[in-house]
Amino acid sequence: MPQTKPPILQLDDVRLTFRTRAGTVRALNGASLTVHEGEAVGLVGESGSGKSTLARAVLGLNPERSSRIEAGRILIAGRDVTRLSQAEWEAARGHPVAMVFQDPLSFLNPIMRIGRQIAESIERHAPDRRVEQRVGELIELVKLPSSLARAYPHELSGGMRQRALLAVALACEPRLLIADEPTTALDVTTQAEILALLRDLREKLGMAMLLITHDLGIVASACERLYVIYAGRVLEWGRAQDVFGAPAHPYTVGLFHAARADRDAQGRFATIGGEPPDLGETAQGCPFAPRCPKAMAECARAMPHASVLADGETHAVRCWLYPPTRESETAVERLGEA
Ligand code: SF4
Repeated sequence: MPQTKPPILQLDDVRLTFRTRAGTVRALNGASLTVHEGEAVGLVGESGSGKSTLARAVLGLNPERSSRIEAGRILIAGRDVTRLSQAEWEAARGHPVAMVFQDPLSFLNPIMRIGRQIAESIERHAPDRRVEQRVGELIELVKLPSSLARAYPHELSGGMRQRALLAVALACEPRLLIADEPTTALDVTTQAEILALLRDLREKLGMAMLLITHDLGIVASACERLYVIYAGRVLEWGRAQDVFGAPAHPYTVGLFHAARADRDAQGRFATIGGEPPDLGETAQGCPFAPRCPKAMAECARAMPHASVLADGETHAVRCWLYPPTRESETAVERLGEA
């Protein structure tokens, strides 16, 4: 079904580099992605694939001195935020996009009570609210006991800290929540509780979510659409049911085998062989070619075009195994997102 809601977030062909002592690192190499109002979208990839860099770029959180968006654009609710200065970001962060991170301790103030941290967020982003009452509502919303408003972050468990950070983020009244590996540091039971809470919050608040993870199982339970990113480029995207039903890109297939703990002909657990590419080098062809079991001669020559697959015009892939669709690149990316 085509999406009828407008995009809250849109990235068009974003290229982002980091300047390091060893040279230029090309962290995003033409990444495109859309999240519509109210929908839950997963962004999946291995460590170093560019998924966290992409999330941070959306909120201007990559280091200003060493990172640079070379090309492309980022739109939040239609506003072009690609070239905002840090001063402009200070005013823009939190609403309409807020973010929670893998390690809440790094983002909660260790010497400030949880209730005060939530109150500061309300005072800054929703000053019309009655602060004390709103702190109570948010603590209840994330299912923490009200007594924890007086606690310091170090007095909470990992799951409670993640709930507290969620309350700080929700105080900004976001229309899109970016959750960067929000359950990676948690045990399996707490992971399930936080995912259930995120689902619950989305339903109650009508909020969109961009869930960043290396775990396909989490995407299956929480997202309507997903993007698979590798070497700073989206290689497959579509409705979760289509991609999970028939993964098309060899990299996505490898991720599925690894996630399901499938075994190869020798009985060994399936893994994706080799290492992610060195983003300091300029890659000409498909970035997955050195690790791809289906690589052909042409794969090393040029980056594959996007192809929309036959299963409903909502599933697309960048791989030479599939005939390129006769559309402009952007049009195909928009089609695959519909
Ligand atoms: Fe493999 Fe070639 Fe497809 Fe890249 S383009 S994933 S190397 S088959």
